[in-house]
Amino acid sequence: MKAKKSLGQNFLKVEKYLNKMVEAGELTSTDLVIEIGPGHGDLTEKILLTGTTLICIEKDRELIPLLEEKFHNHIKEGKLQIIEKDVLETDPYEITKGKPYKIVANIPFYITGAIIEKFLSEKHRPEKMVLVTQKEVAERIVEKDGKSSILSLSVKFFGEPKFVTIIPKGAFVPSPKVDSAIVLINVSENINKNLEKKFFDLIHAAFAHKRKQMRSNLVIRYSENKVNVIFQKLDLDPKIRAEKIKIAQWVEAAKTLL
Ligand code: SAM
Repeated sequence: MKAKKSLGQNFLKVEKYLNKMVEAGELTSTDLVIEIGPGHGDLTEKILLTGTTLICIEKDRELIPLLEEKFHNHIKEGKLQIIEKDVLETDPYEITKGKPYKIVANIPFYITGAIIEKFLSEKHRPEKMVLVTQKEVAERIVEKDGKSSILSLSVKFFGEPKFVTIIPKGAFVPSPKVDSAIVLINVSENINKNLEKKFFDLIHAAFAHKRKQMRSNLVIRYSENKVNVIFQKLDLDPKIRAEKIKIAQWVEAAKTLL
């Protein structure tokens, strides 16, 4: 069957990297895992070897019968459920029946941001996410160059990201244009909803115009007085750019807006 470019189908075929994903998830037989886009089932097979219970969500209808045949026994034993659906339209609370879960997935690049945003902002968040992303995206998430962004701060608000390893493009069939990486996000349990709203309002305002200094961006959205309180409380250089400010400082700044 021909790989569908429109569905981001680049199948990971090198065992070493499939094993690294499972290791990063620290899977045990009592875990419940969601795999997004099982594809041909190579990662699925590795996840099932840990004895964990698995729910796969696959959008490509044509792959479903192949997966059902390949994993017939696991499905019969109740260890695997395959759902044919667009992951962005799923309700994790409903499919996990409210149980704690982890995500381990080689996700399609065209919806990397949407998947991360969806699962981190859900009420029923995963405990961990082990994802394959483009290398550059993984580096942005962990702020490899020391600069924060809306993406890295969004992830860090909800959890702790870790760069696991690079996957060279040749490890996939067909090969994508760029290298990939495995990124692990350990997700925090308790998030203050009011603070979450203030935090996201604040970072969107601060990063609104890339060339502007943070102060000039903030005064478009907030009163001079509020902006002064933030700068005084965090003892910030008035000329600082948003990308220089770290997550803990953003959280402190958001608290002044509660
Ligand atoms: N897990 C396999 C592997 O590691 O080789 C396949 C990974 S491939 C990068 C992405 C998979 O996600 C494909 O099987 C594709 O059909 C599926 N997919 C694409 N868009 C999806 C969506 N919106 N919801 C669920 N699955 C999707």
